[in-house]
Amino acid sequence: MRLALGRGLERIALGTGERVALTLDDHDVIEADLVLLATGLTPRTALAASAGLEVTASGIAVDRTLQTSHPAIFALGDAACVDGVNAMYVQPLQASAKALAKTLTGNPMPVHFGAWPVMVKTPLLPVVAYPPRVTPARWRIESDGADMSALAEDKDGRLIGFALTGGCVRRKVELSRAAPALLG
Ligand SMILES: Cc1cc2nc3c(=O)[nH]c(=O)nc-3n(C[C@H](O)[C@H](O)[C@H](O)COP(=O)(O)OP(=O)(O)OC[C@H]3O[C@@H](n4cnc5c(N)ncnc54)[C@H](O)[C@@H]3O)c2cc1C
Repeated sequence: MRLALGRGLERIALGTGERVALTLDDHDVIEADLVLLATGLTPRTALAASAGLEVTASGIAVDRTLQTSHPAIFALGDAACVDGVNAMYVQPLQASAKALAKTLTGNPMPVHFGAWPVMVKTPLLPVVAYPPRVTPARWRIESDGADMSALAEDKDGRLIGFALTGGCVRRKVELSRAAPALLG
C-alpha cells in the first residue's frame, strides 16, 4: 500500500491498457486497476457565519426546535447541527421538516431522531450503517462471503452501532430497536 497523504487529485484519465492514470497535484502519476472515491461531506457554513449565526465544524448550530443563535432564523438538513448532532441523510431531514412546520405555526416541537440507519442504495451490494457516536469498546464482526455484520458495542456489551451488507441488511429493524437513538 502506498499512501499519498496531503496531496490532491488533478486528473483521472485512461492509462496503460485497461488501467486508469491518476495525476496528483505534484504531477506524480499513479496507475490503478480500480478507483474508489470516498470524499466525505462538510457543511458549507460561510453564509450563516457571515450573517453572524453561531456555527461549528459540524454545521449551523441549532437547538432541538431547529432555532439558530438568531431567534428568527431556523436551519435544518445537511447544514444544521442539531444539539450537537449532524445527521446528513433523508430520514432526519424529513423529521426536522415536520417538526419545524409545527414550530413555525405556533406549536414549538423539538425534533427527535431515532436509531435510524443509513441505507446506502448500492444495488450490487446493499449496505446499511448506523455509525456509533462514540468509539466502541469492541466490534463483533461475522461474515459469510458478501453477507457481513459488524456490531459495535460499548464496554458493557450494549449495542451502539452497526454496519450490515448483503443478506445481513435484513437485521436492520431488529438492531435499530436495540441501538440508542441518534437524538433521544
Ligand atoms: C451522492 C449522495 C448520495 C446520497 N444518498 C443518500 C441515500 O441513499 N439516502 C439518504 O437518506 N441520503 C442520501 N444522501 C444525503 C441526502 O442527499 C442529503 O441528506 C439531503 O439531500 C440534504 O438535503 P438538504 O436540503 O439539507 O441539502 P441539499 O439537498 O444539499 O440542498 C441544498 C440546496 O441549497 C442550494 N444552495 C446552496 N447554497 C446556496 C446559496 N448560497 N443560495 C441559494 N441556494 C444555495 C444548493 O444548490 C442545493 O440545491 C446522499 C447524498 C449524496 C451527496
